[in-house]
Formats: sequence, C-alpha cells, structure tokens
Amino acid sequence: MAIVEVAGLVKEFDSGKVRAIDSVDLATKEGEYLVLLGPSGCGKTTLLRTIAGLEQPTSGQVLINDTVVTHLPPRARQIAMVFQSYALYPHKTVLGNIVFPLRAARVNPQERQRKAEWAAGLLGIEHLLARKPRQLSGGERQRVALARALVRDPQVFLLDEPLSNLDAKLRASARDELKRFQQEVGTTTIYVTHDQVEAMGLGDRIAVFSQGKVRQIGPPTEVYDDPADTFVATFIGSPPMNLVPDGEKLVGFRPEHLLPATVLNGDAMRIELAVQRLEYLSGDRHLYGTATGIGEPTRVISRLPATVTEPVEPGQTYDFAVNRDKVRYFDAASGLRTTS
Ligand code: ATP
Repeated sequence: MAIVEVAGLVKEFDSGKVRAIDSVDLATKEGEYLVLLGPSGCGKTTLLRTIAGLEQPTSGQVLINDTVVTHLPPRARQIAMVFQSYALYPHKTVLGNIVFPLRAARVNPQERQRKAEWAAGLLGIEHLLARKPRQLSGGERQRVALARALVRDPQVFLLDEPLSNLDAKLRASARDELKRFQQEVGTTTIYVTHDQVEAMGLGDRIAVFSQGKVRQIGPPTEVYDDPADTFVATFIGSPPMNLVPDGEKLVGFRPEHLLPATVLNGDAMRIELAVQRLEYLSGDRHLYGTATGIGEPTRVISRLPATVTEPVEPGQTYDFAVNRDKVRYFDAASGLRTTS
C-alpha cells in the first residue's frame, strides 16, 4: 500500500498558454480509493499522467511514500495505469495479454502462470484465458486490462475513465466489481471520471476539480452535503443544488429538501413554489417551478420522494419550505461557502 502525494504541482502546455494543472496539493491515504471528479478539460488526465511519470510537471513534485519521484521514469514508480481505451494486443490470447508485462520483466514461466491465474480468478475471467480480445464483451476486455495491470503488483493503480466504453448496465456492474476488487487487494487507487454518480459510488474520498484546481476534497457525503463553493454544489447532485440570489449571497438547497410546508416540522425557510412542470423519475416526482418569498424569483427544482403524497399540479402555487439546517449560503461574488 502506498501514499501518493503531489505538492505545488503545475503543468503548463504551449509555452505557458495552457495551465492544465494550477498549483495542486493532494495526498491519498494508504489503500484509499480517491476519485478525481471534474468536467471535460479540467486537467484530470494530465494530473494522472504526471503522477504516472508520462508527463513532467512545469513545477512542483510527485511523491510516493514520502520519496520524491518527480524525475523517475514511469517504470521505476511501481504504478499501473489503465486508460479509457485499454488497448489489448488483438493477436494475443487473454492469457498472453495478462502475462505480457511479466514476460517483459523476465519473470519465469511458472510464476507468470501463477500470477495470471490469481489475477484472472480475482476478476472472474479464468474461463476466458484462451480467447482473443475480439471474442470478449467490453466489460470482459476491461477486466483483462485490469488483470494485466494487477499482475505487476503495483503500489498504486491509476484508472482513467476505465468504464467509459461500457453501456449503462454493464457500467453499473463493472463499477461494483471494481470497488469489490479494490477492497480485496487494498491497493491505493486514483480514479478519474467526469461522472458524479460513479464518483459518489466508488470514492472513499472525492477530489472535485475545475480549471486545473482542486475545489474540494472529502468523503462523498461531505462534498454533497457541505459543498465548498457553488461549482461543487452544482456539479455534484442530479438535479443540482438550487441557488437563489439574495443580495450579496446565494441561498442554496438541494431539490430533495424543498418540500411541501405541511410535511416539514421544526424551523423552516418558507418558499412559494409556482409549479410549471412535473416529471416522474424512479418513483420520485420532480417539480420544476419558480420560487418566490426568498431573494429574487428563481427557477428551482423540488424532488418529492414517493413517501410524500401531497397532490401537486402544474399551473398551481404551493407553500413549500426547506428545513433551515439544510440551507447553505454562498458569497455571490466569489461563489465560496459562507456561514449565513
Ligand atoms: P477529459 O475529461 O475531457 O479527458 P481532462 O479533465 O482529463 O479532460 P486534460 O486532458 O487533463 O483534461 O486537459 C486539461 C487541459 O490541458 C485542456 O485544456 C487540454 O486542452 C490541455 N492539454 C492537455 N494536453 C495537452 C497538450 N499535450 N498540449 C496542449 N494542451 C493540452
């Protein structure tokens, strides 16, 4: 198990015209599953490649277990990286693909076989060892790529959107498998994705990225419940957090906390909700409407679970409310979280 750390990391491209990583400090815990989450182009892949040694930082350092590895070549870092397009050798069998890095490292044949069988067993692909990649499904190919990374006994796994080529159903099961597998081997893993559902499901902690900077790092519940700024508040959560402008501040609340006033007890912030549209989604009702009564009239979304049975019709206005302990405030100018 290892601790990966980056300190004051900057990576520029095009003679400084593009700053892909903008002074990032980040450290994993031992055996942690850390997810880097952010929109396209925010610098996630560049950060992963820099940790792997495939890119040299413009400044700053990469450390593994407190040792500076910034100038070590990739192979000296004991890191295994699985990319979005996990290229397998088409003419080799699954077994041939898995043992390839061991052959390159001149590991003896018995040991190669033993490790390949162990990795294949762990990933549930023992029965596929004689097949060629074209005879596999997307999910099976992904497991072969993981097995190939695993036999190297890496200290660290770097996974760059490894599930992006799979359909939605396979993605969900592959996600479960990945999590189970990582818990079993306990290898420190950094996982890149732009999919917040994936991040919430997989990560011990999530580092939310935007424009080359880490906006927040914390366990899924923390980034969801207590976002550090409006970027995190709206990037995480589907539908995103509602933000109502009120003078110098923004009043934030999650759709599932905007409920009919009649179902809330305790200290609540009252909101008039003029409902325009209603959608049914996985047993919930999503109400699209305009909130008045706090700040400026603003388009908001309320998500009513099946347990809330109050009748709601488009075209009507209702008394809604949000429990005060669910309300979050942000500075309108900087977007940063404030206390009130
Ligand atoms: P995605 O989710 O789309 O893969 P990402 O968050 O991984 O995006 P990066 O690939 O790290 O983003 O790119 C970060 C920024 O750096 C982007 O603006 C990209 O255009 C730029 N960039 C990346 N590689 C290079 C390069 N070799 N030369 C110039 N600019 C680059």
